Amino acid sequence: QAVFPKPERTRLIAVANQKGGVGKTTTTVNISAALALAGARVLVIDMDPQGNASTALGIVHGSGLPSVYDVLEGRLSIEQVKQTCPDFATLDVVPASIDLSGAELEVADSPNRNNLLDTALSTFLEQSEQHYDYVFIDCPPSLGLLVINAMCAVNEMLIPIQAEYYALEGLGQLIHTIGLVQEHFNSTLLVSTMLVTMFDRRTLLSREVYDEVKQHYPSIVLDTTIPRTVKIAEAPSFSKSVIAYDPQGMGATSYREAALEIAKRSAQALEAIAIKRGEH
Ligand code: ADP
Ligand code: MG
Repeated sequence: QAVFPKPERTRLIAVANQKGGVGKTTTTVNISAALALAGARVLVIDMDPQGNASTALGIVHGSGLPSVYDVLEGRLSIEQVKQTCPDFATLDVVPASIDLSGAELEVADSPNRNNLLDTALSTFLEQSEQHYDYVFIDCPPSLGLLVINAMCAVNEMLIPIQAEYYALEGLGQLIHTIGLVQEHFNSTLLVSTMLVTMFDRRTLLSREVYDEVKQHYPSIVLDTTIPRTVKIAEAPSFSKSVIAYDPQGMGATSYREAALEIAKRSAQALEAIAIKRGEH
């Protein structure tokens, strides 16, 4: 197994793309699992009311159970709602449930509405007895208040891009929104990583999408691409990451390679490669 360098400080990464079905949840779950397997301590925060990341990591969740919803509304702390993934002792998860879909409206009038997650996460990281190497936030497919909360709580954005015809459609809008958040709420926010998912080597289209994204964002796009595989698609139905479900397969191997690339990006390198304010 390759040696994964550990970050000096906790790396906070939101996985976002307002398009649904591009591989956000799959990427959050499997990059986190791969880093945990390599010895990192990782916290996954599920910010999607669908709760798919919670499901895929084998975490008990559902309406009425303690979740990130209670955290955003100030009833419970992250310490109180986090659970450990049954497959990886160093992987903790803050679950989500459908209750979260009410949060956007319920907190809309709060003056602190953009920073609810940031406040809760900072408090948790300061007070926790554990040091976390990484925090990953799985975002819902929107650019709404839940996603703004994620963008305000992190320093890095990881954008999964599905290798398909309309891949780049909407990317400009996402980068623009990230720019607005940088300008108004979180000047430390960087787009550190793009990952091309559901790549099909047999098609010219996949290669064309990769080349086009790489041309636009040369140092941000990972060299590793994630192939479309049956094992990746079926792992969640066994409440497992593909890292645990099919450790030797192509899907797990690719996600481990992508995780290694992410781990090797030092803070300094991140500064250099990131899309900064005004550069998009
Ligand atoms: P998002 O979170 O962006 O909506 P998901 O990660 O849930 O996207 O992926 C959408 C669907 O595609 C899911 O059913 C998932 O299992 C499947 N999927 C994601 N990545 C792959 C892949 N590399 N190979 C096969 N199926 C995939
Ligand atoms: Mg998802």
